[in-house]
Amino acid sequence: RAKDLGRNAYQLYTPSMNARSFERLAMESSLRHALARGEFTLVYQGKVDLVSGRLSGVEALVRWRHPEMGLVSPAEFIPLAENMGLIGDIGAWVLKAACRQCKSWHDLGLPPVRIAVNVSALQFREGDVPAIVAEALRESGLPPNYLELELTESVLMQRVDEVAHVLRELRQMGVHISIDDFGTGYSSLSYLKRMPIDALKIDRSFVHDLLEDGHVADGEGAEIVSTIINLAHNLRLRAVAEGVETEEQADFLRAKGCDEIQGYLISRPVSGEDLVSLFDRNLLPPS
Ligand code: C2E
Ligand code: MG
Ligand code: MG
Ligand code: MG
Repeated sequence: RAKDLGRNAYQLYTPSMNARSFERLAMESSLRHALARGEFTLVYQGKVDLVSGRLSGVEALVRWRHPEMGLVSPAEFIPLAENMGLIGDIGAWVLKAACRQCKSWHDLGLPPVRIAVNVSALQFREGDVPAIVAEALRESGLPPNYLELELTESVLMQRVDEVAHVLRELRQMGVHISIDDFGTGYSSLSYLKRMPIDALKIDRSFVHDLLEDGHVADGEGAEIVSTIINLAHNLRLRAVAEGVETEEQADFLRAKGCDEIQGYLISRPVSGEDLVSLFDRNLLPPS
């Protein structure tokens, strides 16, 4: 892979680049048909309440099963789908599939959880998100307050009044909103205050930076995470940490009053069937 070769500028002109362009072209032409061929699937990662230790929500993450390339990560194909004008259709499929899955967990009689769905900035700006959400809720029968949309800070930065209006519309429907990868963008605090949002998800790079040599250390990393938790609480929002991999990180986050965590410590993203084993039991390691 060209991107694994390092950041040497000369590589822009090597044959590996041609190979990569070719790979990209091939990916583009198959992405155009992926939806119709049923190649997308969702996996689910639990969020855990740090006080109760119980499953508090689930995030849906899309995967593309390409017949030759295997599983393609959303980090690779979502930007491509945006460029190709396909993100609206893919995003609508994700919303519907996620709502249906969540409703079927409810129908199994499991303790009801909320499903979180990622919405890209472009999808939010160019699509009629409230209409698509309404359709997904109607079709699945999922009550609106069991749906949460994860938006990135970049959404909040453009056309602020329009965005606030759309978010209020979603809020009035009963849908929850969280800000994903918080801290990596440049959202202004005054905008944040004006937006009807429910939670800040601390980007996993900050959660990772809590660790020095594998242990939580007093330092800049800890300061940043504590500051975001306090910011969330001052704005009356929940603080959720993503990318939690170790017990020490979880202990630190709990001590700082973080509300929920998500990450490999609790579970990798799994199929809808496998997620069922996370319901109805304590998911936190004993502290
Ligand atoms: P995200 O929404 O911030 O999702 C979290 C990502 O971190 C996921 O990667 C997840 O698998 C990964 N992750 C979870 N726990 C850990 C951990 O403990 N350690 C580490 N190192 N990673 C962890 P994934 O599934 O590859 O998704 C990447 C990004 O792609 C997502 O970041 C989201 O921005 C985007 N994405 C995923 N699904 C969708 C979708 O349906 N629609 C849109 N528009 N974007 C999506
Ligand atoms: Mg997310
Ligand atoms: Mg995130
Ligand atoms: Mg992230």
